Amino acid sequence: MRIVILGAGFGGLTACLELVDRLKSRWGVEVVLVDRHPYHLFTPLLFQVVTGGVDPGHIAHPIRWLLRDRRFQFYESEIKAIDLACKKVVLPTMELTYDILVIGLGSTTNFFGVPKAENYSFPVKTVREAVAIKNRIIDAFRQAELEPNDEARRRILSFAVVGGGATGVELVASLYDLVHMVLAKDYPRARPEDTRVCLIEATNSLLGGMDPKMGEIAMQSLQNRGVRLHLGCRIVGMDNEGVHTADGQHLQYRLVIWASGIRPSPLVEPLALEKARDGRIIVGPYLDVPQWPGVYAVGDLAAYTEPGAARPLPAKAAVAEQQGRSVARNIVHILADEDPETFRYKYQGDLVALGRDAAVAKLFGRSFNGFVAWIFWRAIHLQKVPGFRNRMSVAQDWSFDYVLRRDTMHLE
Ligand SMILES: Cc1cc2nc3c(=O)[nH]c(=O)nc-3n(C[C@H](O)[C@H](O)[C@H](O)COP(=O)(O)OP(=O)(O)OC[C@H]3O[C@@H](n4cnc5c(N)ncnc54)[C@H](O)[C@@H]3O)c2cc1C
Repeated sequence: MRIVILGAGFGGLTACLELVDRLKSRWGVEVVLVDRHPYHLFTPLLFQVVTGGVDPGHIAHPIRWLLRDRRFQFYESEIKAIDLACKKVVLPTMELTYDILVIGLGSTTNFFGVPKAENYSFPVKTVREAVAIKNRIIDAFRQAELEPNDEARRRILSFAVVGGGATGVELVASLYDLVHMVLAKDYPRARPEDTRVCLIEATNSLLGGMDPKMGEIAMQSLQNRGVRLHLGCRIVGMDNEGVHTADGQHLQYRLVIWASGIRPSPLVEPLALEKARDGRIIVGPYLDVPQWPGVYAVGDLAAYTEPGAARPLPAKAAVAEQQGRSVARNIVHILADEDPETFRYKYQGDLVALGRDAAVAKLFGRSFNGFVAWIFWRAIHLQKVPGFRNRMSVAQDWSFDYVLRRDTMHLE
């Protein structure tokens, strides 16, 4: 019997580790994990890679280290297709058959069909994208220092983040700090006071999906810092000079970072399955894919609506992790001829960083903000960084950033 898990993200890796721990070589089951990357990426700190707060290697947890003391196989490979009818997964060089399949391939950036957004904006989903954005920010300052024309220099130093969700808010706050606390000192002739850091959001509020009070606090905090907010501003097109908005404006930016919206992995698209309006696979109470016994979907690409809820659960790391654990438990139940358990999501709270010494939180049923929330943000995220070595490295990065300075090297 072979169980194949696609994706070593929050859902897939959790399912894999839980499964091997619970199976303990029983029933002669072979567990195979497949991912294009040799690491699990801790995305909640990816925005700090963009802004020089953490080293990219410190939020990437090597999967091969986990192989040493756990019984599963790892295939580091691109997945080309899933063939549900023939029970196989197609890799570039081979086909992998399965008896049980867990699909945890996550999501990709959604540009919502905005013309040219894909060409002229920079998404922030992978390490490579995060490092590329960081290099562009540093390049802008390098270029601005050598630009004698005031108007041209101001254009070079204009940055926009699209999307007022948690990722966009955390990123824009940290970008503002990077520009004003670090690059301003590194590049004094670039006149950092000419810099514009903006957040563009289509609705009139921030942090949609969280407690509205958190959104209000975030808005106030960003405005107090000096971030320019463009709320209710729908982007309808892009060119190499900036964005076109629905009300006919052309806002000029040197760099536009796209932190708005996701869509399920493209591998899900050709599968003839019941899907939600956003393209996610609709799953049953055990995160099972209806009509395909032995197939499960977890994380960003699964649409699971809890009994009595109006909407599917949001795409969050905590949801994916809990789903991965639940699927692993249920697979073991089924192998042991026991009844599976309905998935129930345990909401643990929300935390959003708002730059140096500031955050907003909803924990233990209460909303709070400021320095205390920032301490909670750091402590909770640090505790969640997978792997002892990575955790220590992130703690060291943060200590150096706080006491000394962030890393603003542009390594080619
Ligand atoms: C910048 C950023 C910040 C975020 N911050 C937070 C946060 O603070 N809190 C929070 O709860 N959530 C956050 N999220 C969302 C969170 O990352 C996702 O909800 C979570 O990763 C979903 O887990 P998953 O297992 O579904 O997918 P993922 O964790 O994305 O894992 C999918 C895996 O599949 C692999 N894969 C995909 N396609 C292929 C293929 N064709 N071949 C081989 N391998 C493939 C990928 O390499 C990846 O390892 C953030 C996301 C981003 C991008």
